[in-house]
Amino acid sequence: MGTSISRRSFLTGAGSVAALVASAGLSGCAPKKRDTSESETTSVASSESSWLGSAPTIDKSSITDVLSCEVLVVGCGTSGNFAACSAAEHGANVIAIEKGGRGAGVRGTIGAIGTKWQIANGTNIKATDICHDIERYSASAVNSRLTNLWASQSAETVEWYGDLNIAAGRDFVICSDNDLSAEEQSGYYRHWATGHAVVQDGKTMEDDTVINAYAVKKGVDFHYFTKMVELVKENDRVTGIIAQDENRNYIQINASKGVIVCTGGYAHNQDMLSTLQPDTMQIFSYNSGLPNAQGDGIRACIWAGSDFDATHTSMLFDRCPLGPNQVAGKDMTQGMFWMGSQPWLKVNLAGERFADESTPYDFILHASSKQPDHTYCTIYDSNYEQYVYQFKTQGCSRMFPFENGAPVSAMTLDVVKGINAQLLEKGILQQADTIEELGQKLNIPPDKFAETVKHYNQLVASGTDTDFGKESFRLSPVDKPPYFGIRQTGYLLCTMDGVPINEDMNALDPDGNPIKGLYVCGNDSGSFFSHSYPDLVPGLACGRSATFGRRAGRIAASM
Ligand SMILES: Cc1cc2nc3c(=O)[nH]c(=O)nc-3n(C[C@H](O)[C@H](O)[C@H](O)COP(=O)(O)OP(=O)(O)OC[C@H]3O[C@@H](n4cnc5c(N)ncnc54)[C@H](O)[C@@H]3O)c2cc1C
Repeated sequence: MGTSISRRSFLTGAGSVAALVASAGLSGCAPKKRDTSESETTSVASSESSWLGSAPTIDKSSITDVLSCEVLVVGCGTSGNFAACSAAEHGANVIAIEKGGRGAGVRGTIGAIGTKWQIANGTNIKATDICHDIERYSASAVNSRLTNLWASQSAETVEWYGDLNIAAGRDFVICSDNDLSAEEQSGYYRHWATGHAVVQDGKTMEDDTVINAYAVKKGVDFHYFTKMVELVKENDRVTGIIAQDENRNYIQINASKGVIVCTGGYAHNQDMLSTLQPDTMQIFSYNSGLPNAQGDGIRACIWAGSDFDATHTSMLFDRCPLGPNQVAGKDMTQGMFWMGSQPWLKVNLAGERFADESTPYDFILHASSKQPDHTYCTIYDSNYEQYVYQFKTQGCSRMFPFENGAPVSAMTLDVVKGINAQLLEKGILQQADTIEELGQKLNIPPDKFAETVKHYNQLVASGTDTDFGKESFRLSPVDKPPYFGIRQTGYLLCTMDGVPINEDMNALDPDGNPIKGLYVCGNDSGSFFSHSYPDLVPGLACGRSATFGRRAGRIAASM
């Protein structure tokens, strides 16, 4: 979640976005200005317009081709695929453009409630309960109507997607532990069995082969290596886009019913990230975002008069390894320490425990932002394997099959052991026969660290974490040498803030009015996440993208 400069400006809402657009010389499509003081307008514009830039001025004579359709989908990843299919199913003539040689695919875990597979499994999730929990992650700084919309419509979307894959010879599973005890659902770790996944040959799939083939069959006209440059607006309506085709020629694509923008957020736009999310920048060291997530869609929408979320949020997972001399944010690195999301003992660089470790993925990262160098060490012992089973974590941190037989969504424990062996060989993961030696290898004060481990082991033996309240089944002693430790921080997957939308997926201007002809889905859209990503609602990001993409396609087609 980003604050500082951006928060100050976007909290003022309409005035700030209007000022930015106006400062970029786009008076023709600038949103209406609210009362904003001159000094604020000036400082906001000068501090932030570098990431926003201005809409390119494209000479009409340089446009080499003009295409026309009813519904235009921009970006063919998760939400774009669903949008294109449903627009075509509802009779629209659809063009879908994609910057890459193929779309980003549909992500592995897709979240829904009330599907026929959940009902058959006895998984009954009450919509109001899960919506309240999702909203708690954001302190309700979201549009609750959208949360409820996902809850009420996700089953239809995910059943449609599951049936499509089953018809193509794949399996479709839910990831569920039916045997969770009250304690396993307590504390921070309240979990919802929302995850669904396509499975082939016993493995979860992350591709778009099936949905893409269906879209082609339905007549969607795909254009690859075609990049949206800006939206075209006539009077108060978005009527199409200007794009660059594979030869970098400008083309215009007119869309009589609507443009659905689905370009996947801004995880790889350094200017946007560092200006809008300075605090996020301090708690990750590896960016695993998709390379085309450059903020193209969000910026084009703002140029065309859209608002932008007031808080800026990323999906962060606590699995980035750091070397024993590295610190979060400053030392960029690569790779995964997949066991980072296990609730092992975690200590700061002073050798002290600082939080309950049994939390959603990004909570420990936000907690580490209050610790020296925003960096912490994860500590475990040679009995770790038994504890991984005992901890029974959910979502993609899970390294063994779910109780209903569904495979892990990402990495098995065997694969993770192989990765850890490499980390050890590279001197990133540390191994030692004594706790003091481990402290020395991690470059943390060995005496203080030994004191912390001794105290922690006493808490484990007592069965009660009187310091931070971690559940008793997630307390594991550090008493069987050799011991292991690693410095770590987070890795970034995607950004989660964007253009505010209404229930029709229509982009909103700073006064809250829908912009005709402009729909926004997936990571480009806002109003749904703030501060944190609710990873204990597995597949929520993908489920929201799919459900709202499908809805946008239908609504745009019916205009
Ligand atoms: C590695 C990884 C794994 C993830 N796994 C999960 C998961 O299992 N479950 C989950 O819920 N969430 C997951 N997420 C989060 C994920 O980002 C969302 O769930 C969701 O897929 C976002 O969908 P989207 O349509 O917004 O963007 P994407 O699926 O990223 O698609 C955006 C598309 O737009 C294209 N594009 C970009 N700019 C332009 C342009 N100017 N013109 C034309 N095309 C453009 C891109 O090339 C891309 O194909 C994961 C994210 C990452 C990075």
